[in-house]
Amino acid sequence: MFDWLIVGAGFAGSVLAERLATQRNEKVLLIDRRAHIGGNAYDEYDAAGLLVHRYGPHIFHTNSQQILDYLSQFTAWRAYEHRVRGVVDGKRVPIPINRTTVNTLYGLDLDEAGVAAFLAGKAEPVDPIRTSEDVVVSQVGRELYEAFFRGYTRKQWGLDPAQLDKSVTARVPVRSNDDDRYFTDTHQCMPAQGYTRLFERMLAHQNIKVMLKTDLREISDVIPFRRMIFTGPIDEYFGHRFGKLPYRSLSFEHVTRDQDWFQEVGTVNFPQSEAYTRITEFKHLTGQEHPKTSLVYEYPQATGEPYYPVPTAESQALYKRYEELARSTANVWFVGRLATYRYYNMDQVVGQALATFRRINEEVPMSARKQLDLKRRSAFRYAEALFDDLAPIALAPGARGNGRTETADRGEG
Ligand SMILES: Cc1cc2nc3c(=O)[nH]c(=O)nc-3n(C[C@H](O)[C@H](O)[C@H](O)COP(=O)(O)OP(=O)(O)OC[C@H]3O[C@@H](n4cnc5c(N)ncnc54)[C@H](O)[C@@H]3O)c2cc1C
Repeated sequence: MFDWLIVGAGFAGSVLAERLATQRNEKVLLIDRRAHIGGNAYDEYDAAGLLVHRYGPHIFHTNSQQILDYLSQFTAWRAYEHRVRGVVDGKRVPIPINRTTVNTLYGLDLDEAGVAAFLAGKAEPVDPIRTSEDVVVSQVGRELYEAFFRGYTRKQWGLDPAQLDKSVTARVPVRSNDDDRYFTDTHQCMPAQGYTRLFERMLAHQNIKVMLKTDLREISDVIPFRRMIFTGPIDEYFGHRFGKLPYRSLSFEHVTRDQDWFQEVGTVNFPQSEAYTRITEFKHLTGQEHPKTSLVYEYPQATGEPYYPVPTAESQALYKRYEELARSTANVWFVGRLATYRYYNMDQVVGQALATFRRINEEVPMSARKQLDLKRRSAFRYAEALFDDLAPIALAPGARGNGRTETADRGEG
């Protein structure tokens, strides 16, 4: 009997599997209907040997030292600050809009104060601010809104910004200085050996069994378990009984080019006529050296894998009904971007999973037997650690065989 069935091997499911297995000594069955772990953060080497993100570019950024420290148990990091350019009327300019963007587009040579005054002059007061359109127009005016946001949003969401809640664009900053970083978080980095390797290390524990290409429906009546963590779409869990929650999907076109570099930064956005929204060149993100280069083009679409919850008032109201149902479902925890129907970045999902673990600890006390087991294990690990301090003398060069050695390996990557 498994203590936990965890559905979905993305960040939400994997973090909880790791916590439950290592901190509560509980047996976890982690399933995913895909053929791999890592959820949407999964990366792999393509036919040319370049590390690519199958489900679009994933850049790690966070302001939380706690989340970074937690993940650092499973990976070393490569410092990386993402930069984005937008192609507007044939000109390539920094996104978010900054001093260079304004000067290039308008043929000006303004300093910081000049750009701030220029943007303030363009901004149109909107009160109250309700939609994405209101947010952008009130910050930069209609002209820049049309150039950068309207077309992009229509492609991305299949909706006009006037139909979208203000939260979708509220986060897009506008700068009057030359800062051209896409994110401004304290920590911006990429796992040194990729996300999949990070997940492999997170899940390498004797209490965790991983079953891939397995849907919840196939096993829920067959394999016994005590409690469940569900990280898939919440409406699917309840058989879509109130109707389907709307999602925006994407198709990814992966391309390898026989040239060193394709573009000057990680991502180039196309807010105007092209069918794709952006092109990402992975070598910028991964730091890999290779004579060829791999890119991904993203084409938004209405159907397919659920990627982005559609942030309208109606979809939120529908989600609330499912959330109510989830609250009254005993012994099942709903975690992650699909189960809580919110666009979360990776660090936010890790934070949510760690918070869920704390809640589980409060609500489900560990059995006396498990507590005793854990004490025995930590006493054993202490004895093992004492042995390890003497071990280099005894072991042959390159001999490996316990968690401590792996930790040292991580530090090199
Ligand atoms: C194109 C794109 C780019 C992104 N870029 C970034 C970025 O740069 N930085 C960032 O921080 N975040 C980014 N994100 C967000 C990031 O992908 C998510 O925060 C993260 O993957 C969420 O993890 P999760 O575990 O909640 O969900 P997921 O990673 O989606 O994992 C859920 C898993 O559950 C499985 N599953 C669902 N239902 C079932 C079922 N019934 N049975 C079995 N398995 C099931 C799915 O197959 C899936 O693997 C991006 C997202 C997208 C779509």
